[in-house]
Amino acid sequence: MTASFEDLGLSQDLLSAVKELGFEEPSPIQLLAIPPLLEGCDAVGQAQTGTGKTAAFGLPLLEKLVPEKIVQALVLCPTRELTIQVATELIRLAAKKRGVSILPIYGGQSIERQFRALEKGVQVVVGTPGRLLDHLRRGTLRLSAVAMTVLDEADEMLDMGFREDIETILEQTPALCQRVLFSATMPPPIRELSKRFLRDPQMLTITHKMLTTPAIAQVYYEVRPYQKVDALCRVLDSQGFRKALVFCSTKRSVDEVSTHLQQRGYQADALHGDLAQAQRDRVMQRFRTEGVDILVATDVAARGIDVDDVDAVINYDMPHDVEKYVHRIGRTGRAGRDGKAFTFVTVRDRCKLRDIIRYTGARITQGRLPTLQDVDN
Ligand code: ADP
Ligand code: MG
Repeated sequence: MTASFEDLGLSQDLLSAVKELGFEEPSPIQLLAIPPLLEGCDAVGQAQTGTGKTAAFGLPLLEKLVPEKIVQALVLCPTRELTIQVATELIRLAAKKRGVSILPIYGGQSIERQFRALEKGVQVVVGTPGRLLDHLRRGTLRLSAVAMTVLDEADEMLDMGFREDIETILEQTPALCQRVLFSATMPPPIRELSKRFLRDPQMLTITHKMLTTPAIAQVYYEVRPYQKVDALCRVLDSQGFRKALVFCSTKRSVDEVSTHLQQRGYQADALHGDLAQAQRDRVMQRFRTEGVDILVATDVAARGIDVDDVDAVINYDMPHDVEKYVHRIGRTGRAGRDGKAFTFVTVRDRCKLRDIIRYTGARITQGRLPTLQDVDN
């Protein structure tokens, strides 16, 4: 069965924007989500990153806007990077619709500038919970006319400690507001949040087995902790990819690994939560535009980052759980491109690897690092 965007009940201006963006057909989560969201249902959507969730809620959201310059739709995102990405995607989707105003609001940006933009009147606000709450408290943002609220990457927002902020914000939206929650995973706190704030939500799920896309070749290497840096260089040298994302479990390890790589002449950069916003923006900019081809990051810093042509993800440190693994490898193989995922497994990581294979149903084959195996004794 192939369904087209035309079958989903969207208006012409949105259809032509979608076409211009080169989206040929709706992704599974878009097929599943767009009709009920257009009808006004509350919904909980579960799908991995890179599956087109932004347009899944963005198209219905834009469809419902009325010409008035008041805040009618609110999208909450976990990080500044993601806020900018979502706002940018919404702006692209709204390109053929007249007079739509969309404002990203996040910490680290001048609050005065945000006051002025809000004062002029906007229809869609996309932001991080902390800064949004700041505006609500100052009375510079009012949510009484909001008809649709979206929690994007809700699991990440809760992980980051935004639970109370989110609840306070949701309490200030009208009782009859349509509420939509997207999350890659469904841990108990997410279920509680949806039970409390969503009315009879539709469950829109794209399962794990469908998540680990066959386009992503997954390989693991057995290594000893002290071999990891060498193993990383070997993988980077032998694979010949354009852009690689390397995951470490701590900020310190991110700094160490990126420094090692730089010392060995690689164009590598570090991304973690201790960097100032301007620095993070610069790092992302360089990674997007050729300057840097290896980004070493923590899970937190890499959240939701949408860089299309990452063709390799390397788990330098094993992810803590299955969800993290799925999140991480979802950074590659985006938009139908091929991608590869490499995972370093030490003796202590073996059960985690078994869990990942069992839970995702993924084929993760063992790779060989021959010259390093020789050193092993
Ligand atoms: P998610 O929020 O699920 O991580 P995004 O909404 O960021 O995914 O989409 C990932 C990428 O795929 C974006 O670059 C987006 O423009 C693109 N995309 C979204 N929907 C489609 C589609 N139907 N066809 C092709 N590309 C798409
Ligand atoms: Mg997203």
